[in-house]
Amino acid sequence: MTEAHPGEWQRKDLLGIRDLSRREIEIILETAESFREVAERPIKKVPTLRGKTTVNLFFEASTRTSSSFEIAEKRMSADAINFSTSSSSLSKGESLLDTTRTLESMAPDVLVIRHNHPMVPHALAKRIASRVINAGDGAHEHPTQALLDALTIVQKKGSIEGLRVAIVGDIEHSRVVRSNVLLLRALGADVTVAGPRTLMPDEAESLGADVQYRMESAIEGADVIMMLRIQLERQGRTRLPSNDEYFQLFGLTRERVALAKDDVIIMHPGPLNRGVEIASDVADGGSSVILEQVTNGLAVRMAVLFLLCGVPAS
Ligand code: ASP
Repeated sequence: MTEAHPGEWQRKDLLGIRDLSRREIEIILETAESFREVAERPIKKVPTLRGKTTVNLFFEASTRTSSSFEIAEKRMSADAINFSTSSSSLSKGESLLDTTRTLESMAPDVLVIRHNHPMVPHALAKRIASRVINAGDGAHEHPTQALLDALTIVQKKGSIEGLRVAIVGDIEHSRVVRSNVLLLRALGADVTVAGPRTLMPDEAESLGADVQYRMESAIEGADVIMMLRIQLERQGRTRLPSNDEYFQLFGLTRERVALAKDDVIIMHPGPLNRGVEIASDVADGGSSVILEQVTNGLAVRMAVLFLLCGVPAS
């Protein structure tokens, strides 16, 4: 682990990939690379955040992201506090801003926030002195997911420049796709998104990706296939006839993987719906890097925490 890039990182918060320059993305990835080694030590602990308090505010369900932030914080010796809506005063009617101000009065150094409404982390970041990390805001952005995906791709492929990446599934409701298209395009990838018309937002092309409605056209010759979950929790009405029909048209099977490059890697942010967007033998097969994504999530979150806490809040 090194303290790379002293003075180069100036940002108080990590709210979205849209805000970041190519250089800032590279700094996070290079810093994450240096933190990966901590996970291989017999004692997985560094003193980098000793004396710092981190508060994890998850207003929406999470398994990977919340546990990843908590483990990252603990491995960096921070005092980490978890806060979820069901056990908090939010269930007694307290407003989000009042809850956050209350927590803020205890002077945490970092707030990690997930919320089902877009831009909530952005609004809070303007009002509070703590550093804010967006752990997913509605269908808007999920910056640490895109960063851990990028770290995984770089490890497997050496670089992102010039790669063909296909992202398939529920494009409309996915924050993962938005952050990933922004990041992959910033680092020079050629990105195609594919999904049913009923799950394709009107502004899909303005994301900066090629748009396809047939899965095969998207994955042909791809270096990377990223599958997305159908986000039923964000769909006001049913957009699909049935899971079986969806799998017939957009499920990733071995036959479809054969259309991509021989050394294609298969990614998924989780949670997986086996037999809906991805066949089990593909999810568990030799081209899948799904568990490596989870491992890299720790290094990326350690890197972000390190970079944000290493500079005074403005
Ligand atoms: N875990 C990712 C997210 O929070 C993807 C998903 O839920 O399908 O957006």
